[in-house]
Amino acid sequence: MPSGHFIGGRFVQMSGEKIQVSCPSDGRHLGTLDDAGENGVDEAAKDARNALARSSWATANPRERGRALCAFADAIEAQAERLAMIEAVGSSRLLRLTRTRDITRTAGVIRYYGEFCDKLDGSLTPAGNGVMSAVRNEPYGVVAGIVPWNFPIITAAWKFAPALAAGNAVVMKTSELTPHSLLAVAEIACQAGLPPGLLNVVNGYGATTGAALVRHPEIGMVSFTGSTKTGADIMSLAAYHGIKPVSLELGGKGPQLVCADPGDLDDIAGKVAAGFIDNAGQVCTAGSRLIVHESIADALLERIEQKCRDVHPGRTWDDATTLAPVISAGQLARISTLVNQTVAEGATVRIGGAPIPSPYGSGHFHAPTILENVGRDMTGFREEFFGPILIVDRFRDFEEGLAKTRHPVYGLSANVYTRSLPEAMRAVETIEAGMIWVNQPGRAPEFTFPAGGFRSSGFGKDMGREGLLGFTRQKAAWINYAA
Ligand code: NAD
Repeated sequence: MPSGHFIGGRFVQMSGEKIQVSCPSDGRHLGTLDDAGENGVDEAAKDARNALARSSWATANPRERGRALCAFADAIEAQAERLAMIEAVGSSRLLRLTRTRDITRTAGVIRYYGEFCDKLDGSLTPAGNGVMSAVRNEPYGVVAGIVPWNFPIITAAWKFAPALAAGNAVVMKTSELTPHSLLAVAEIACQAGLPPGLLNVVNGYGATTGAALVRHPEIGMVSFTGSTKTGADIMSLAAYHGIKPVSLELGGKGPQLVCADPGDLDDIAGKVAAGFIDNAGQVCTAGSRLIVHESIADALLERIEQKCRDVHPGRTWDDATTLAPVISAGQLARISTLVNQTVAEGATVRIGGAPIPSPYGSGHFHAPTILENVGRDMTGFREEFFGPILIVDRFRDFEEGLAKTRHPVYGLSANVYTRSLPEAMRAVETIEAGMIWVNQPGRAPEFTFPAGGFRSSGFGKDMGREGLLGFTRQKAAWINYAA
């Protein structure tokens, strides 16, 4: 496992508080890192600023940046197997998925933004009497990216790739639970020819290293993915330390609306089950609320229940594993507490409801769980489980079902299953969420579209043209060429 911090194109060790990192699958010790803290962040942010001054990253022909990013994407592909292993061992991502999705998509998103570099235009408008007005999309300078543990490499790439493409230097911080894989990615960037200091990685706790990054005067903008509570803390820190713009990708409580005529129930059951069981439900866009038409509810639930019974908990790198580990003992305890509270408040457990003893003595697993009779005032409705838990509600009338998709806090994503085009279109128009999938589960493997939430699920976008523009600021200029 690569270790430490990656600053100025090399691995750096520091003397901060020691962080012990263990393997989520079986509890094995993976490494010890030190918390970068205020000093480490200062070193990385200043180094990034110097790298911008030393290189012509922000000022050269944008095609030069494009070439460097495309070479970086090629290098990721060349080391795909190694990166897939590091990611799977260090996180809760299954190896077959890091191989076929996470690393491929990381290379894909870097190349996508590499190819975008020379297409980021501005505008020039005649303003009369020999005056021309220009709008330029300029980089901020040094920006920060702070990401969680559930997809460590790919969520980071959604930030550093557009940030670099726009001409910024970046300081990234990943979760203290998954600190290794991003270090390997940053090293590959430099080996592929990215000027040293443009992509830095600092490791450490949120309250120390994360907060220091947001506060640092060199950091011009912060792009964050994580919980709604941390997003609020970051917004307030950014307000008091420079009025910095922030982009926030936060939590969700995604509905899966299954209408009266959704098509093949076996197929839908598989998709609904994957929506809350994949990655053990540790997905911001997990479909954690099933809202199903009463005419098909029992038949669908029996099928989903069977999917829950069929899972094989195991290590992320074992071929037979279909239920991923929960990332840490603390996260497992949190899921368990939320389930128990919801049951104490009157919900009923249809299947699951408790942690599964680890097959390896250590490691953390929770049974896929279906909870029914969950009132809107109960813990299980209000809180994001971030575990393999589904709460179920039924409806009679389509408009009633649609109304039930609304959550009082979150508005990140929604899934809709129907064969009626009018129902599909009405759902797309009405549901208050930043991402909606109709008749297809989860996030499509597309980085060409903007992803992000509404309401307390955040604002700002990752990916697509909007994701790139988020790392630019607009400057207006008036040129009087007749003067
Ligand atoms: P978290 O908010 O606890 O931590 C996320 C990151 O922020 C970590 O790197 C952490 O060290 C850092 N951090 C914590 N406190 C900080 C502070 N005060 N200042 C600066 N940085 C700080 O979230 P988590 O438990 O790592 O991840 C799970 C959460 O992430 C869930 O709520 C999930 O929905 C959300 N998430 C959202 C998306 C999305 O695209 N909307 C994607 C993945 C995960």
